[in-house]
Amino acid sequence: MFVDSALIRIKAGNGGNGCVSFHREKYIAKGGPDGGDGGKGGNVVFVVDDGLSTLADLRYRRSYQAANGGDGKSSKFHGKNAPDCVIRVPKGTLIFDANTGRLMKDMSDSEPFVAAKGGKGGFGNVHFATPVRQIPRFAKPGMPGESFDLRLELKLLADVGLAGFPNVGKSTLLSSVSAATPKIANYHFTTLQPQLGMIRIGDGADFVMADIPGLIEGASEGAGLGHDFLRHIERCRLVVQVIDLSQCEGRDYREDIAIISRELERYSAVLASRPQIWAANKCDCVDEQTKNEFLAYAAQHGVEACCISAATGEGTRELLNLIWQRLQTLPAVEIYEAEAAPTFENTSSREVRVSVQDGVYMVEGDWLPAFLNTIDPNDEESMRYFDRVLRKSGIIDRLREAGISDGDTVSIYDVEFDFVD
Ligand code: GDP
Ligand code: MG
Repeated sequence: MFVDSALIRIKAGNGGNGCVSFHREKYIAKGGPDGGDGGKGGNVVFVVDDGLSTLADLRYRRSYQAANGGDGKSSKFHGKNAPDCVIRVPKGTLIFDANTGRLMKDMSDSEPFVAAKGGKGGFGNVHFATPVRQIPRFAKPGMPGESFDLRLELKLLADVGLAGFPNVGKSTLLSSVSAATPKIANYHFTTLQPQLGMIRIGDGADFVMADIPGLIEGASEGAGLGHDFLRHIERCRLVVQVIDLSQCEGRDYREDIAIISRELERYSAVLASRPQIWAANKCDCVDEQTKNEFLAYAAQHGVEACCISAATGEGTRELLNLIWQRLQTLPAVEIYEAEAAPTFENTSSREVRVSVQDGVYMVEGDWLPAFLNTIDPNDEESMRYFDRVLRKSGIIDRLREAGISDGDTVSIYDVEFDFVD
């Protein structure tokens, strides 16, 4: 079965805990703090694998978890950073947050995408010795790694999509002009998953062609296999309608063209508006008169067309050149813009706990690690946002209630700063 959507759960690794430890040597009864930091938890990262054309692997395994960072140890030993958990997907995979529907990423470039960040390691107590706090008895726990339920949806990226009835010769065409090896057989629906082929017609002149399983009448309403597959040509820049001109199955090509065009239209206006080229196949079994009639029919409709035989190779070179020329005039493949992550500005109802340990004001709350993950301490705008959220969420008020005064230390997970009102 062709798999082009999947629900998975991902969890990045937690940061390792910081260590509380004091330096001890034979003649030194009590040395300074020397607890090391925890290591960073592994990220969950998506990468594009050009060899993949389905999401089948993700149906078998639904849960992906990166390892946790190692805990810090005494003698200032830093805990181990955990490796990333890497998930391979075909190009064109859309990654949605399953709970909010937010599009997090369109995997259409070759950049790896960090979908869930691993938690930072906690500071060991070596960091917490200050002139007034000589013997810090606390260290920081590691930050939890992010976790998400994801919905993945494949929308293949191809410059050219082949559309047409089953058995018209789409797979044969793709395999004769590219290195792809699709299944070819004389029965309907042999192509149960889209096949992609890279087609090179010269130096620096190449494009990707996708063979999409056959459309049948009613495909846009879910009949047969067509509907599921239509979304894979939605992003194509150009649609090549392959037509069986031999009409050996007792069909009329004019009717076929009308039906396929209607199916495309019903499924999506965008798709229907894509420029088309009509390729009349099986011309090895067709007389000149039929070919000329077909070409005249296409010209009447203002559509570029050519007569080919995928089996003998007749006319396929001409078709590829036609496609290439046409692609030069068309915009690049559409890549979907990721939606921004929700902000934490409306956090007044979120829970916050404040406690005082060794004179340090510790702030905790389940939502805080995820919030802190979004903060970049080197970016001024980010720090202003941090400040706004502290006020709006009531953290500042809670600190005052707990008796904080200027200059006291505030500690929120891995962030520590001096309180200034
Ligand atoms: P698809 O369903 O559109 O992918 O069609 P296939 O590529 O699987 O081809 C269906 C049948 O048509 C197979 O038996 C092919 O051998 C045959 N076929 C494909 N192209 C040609 C052609 O140019 N000439 C002839 N005579 N037969 C062809
Ligand atoms: Mg096929």
